[in-house]
Amino acid sequence: MINSKLPQVGTTIFTVMSKLAADNKAINLSQGFPGFDCYPYLQDLVSEYLRKGFNQYAPMSGVEDLKNRLAEKTKILYDIQLNAEEEITVVSGATEALYAAVTAVVRNGDEVILLEPAYDSYAPAVVLNGGVPVYVSLNLPDFSVDWGKVKAAITDKTRLIMVNTPHNPCGYVWTQEDLNTLAELIKDREIYVVSDEVYEHITFDGKKHLSLMTHSLLRERTFVCCSFGKTFHITGWKLGYCLAPKDLTSEFRKIHQFLTFSSCTPMQYALAEYMTEPSRYIYLNEFYQKKRDLFCEGLKNTPFKFTPAQGSFFQLVSYGHLSEESDYELAVRLTKEIGVASIPVSVFYHDQKDHKMLRFCFAKDEEVLEQALGLLSRPLF
Ligand code: PMP
Ligand code: GLN
Repeated sequence: MINSKLPQVGTTIFTVMSKLAADNKAINLSQGFPGFDCYPYLQDLVSEYLRKGFNQYAPMSGVEDLKNRLAEKTKILYDIQLNAEEEITVVSGATEALYAAVTAVVRNGDEVILLEPAYDSYAPAVVLNGGVPVYVSLNLPDFSVDWGKVKAAITDKTRLIMVNTPHNPCGYVWTQEDLNTLAELIKDREIYVVSDEVYEHITFDGKKHLSLMTHSLLRERTFVCCSFGKTFHITGWKLGYCLAPKDLTSEFRKIHQFLTFSSCTPMQYALAEYMTEPSRYIYLNEFYQKKRDLFCEGLKNTPFKFTPAQGSFFQLVSYGHLSEESDYELAVRLTKEIGVASIPVSVFYHDQKDHKMLRFCFAKDEEVLEQALGLLSRPLF
């Protein structure tokens, strides 16, 4: 028997719940992916570049035009001028960006602070690099950061802190005060930051996404990890990118070139052309806010309690006032009996802490959301 490097890890909950949804013909609001297609023009561009013969390796750090478009986007959105050649790397999904960034800085025995609930790929990336995850819980019920706890968790061994804004699964969006406090805590230590900003375009009620790169001190220490998947409804293309200062990018690329070397060529060219029009990503807040509002309105007819998400395309609901059933059991039961699949939030805690909460993905067509809400308003407990 192989001596597993990740003995606690099984198949991810996203795979498990999506399969359960398919097996039970349930509406799949579990795994986070859009239930609708990307725009036909983007598909046409891919076909065009495929046919034109853009089918060999892309440059290791990404197609030049695409990096230039990303630099433009960063200027438009955050008023930060990045050097496309030295500070932007295109990779095969945010998952790769996160892994490569962790690998670039974490050495054996280094401590890495993870804020829980935390996205499932963070801790394994740390452990595979010999790091030690140090878990700090976010505040309930709003999932804001408990900076006192973060401060208490910092030691001489702390090398990295991993953050996520807008947050999956909670939807919390970082404030300027969060950025300032983090900067203050790490300024006199050699601590780096991996900032998972895959939902950068999805914030609600006028709340603005504050990239960590907008803070001058954080910018020097941070790998900002993003995904084309969430922004252009193309999660299956597995394309993402990392924004980081030159010295960090140079280490990041050393890892990237031996993880995947480069990412899918025709898709990169297609995205570069598609992104020449910023309105193709700037409309997303409004687009998803309609879905969040529709979903939250319908949730009022269900027994669940909830606070509308500030960002991301997930909505949390709680049911602790109604039942002691574990969140995992409830998620399975709702899939099988009611026909709606969700994600139990306990999977985002290393010790499966159960706050009696479920996560629903509302990145679906309106009819699908309405159908799911109809099913969820039946007697559940
Ligand atoms: N981080 C978060 C918070 C996510 O929700 C996801 C999944 N969409 C990822 C990273 C991974 O992104 P990608 O599919 O581009 O690898
Ligand atoms: N990020 C997606 C989610 O949170 C899932 C991605 C995956 O399946 N690995 O649901």
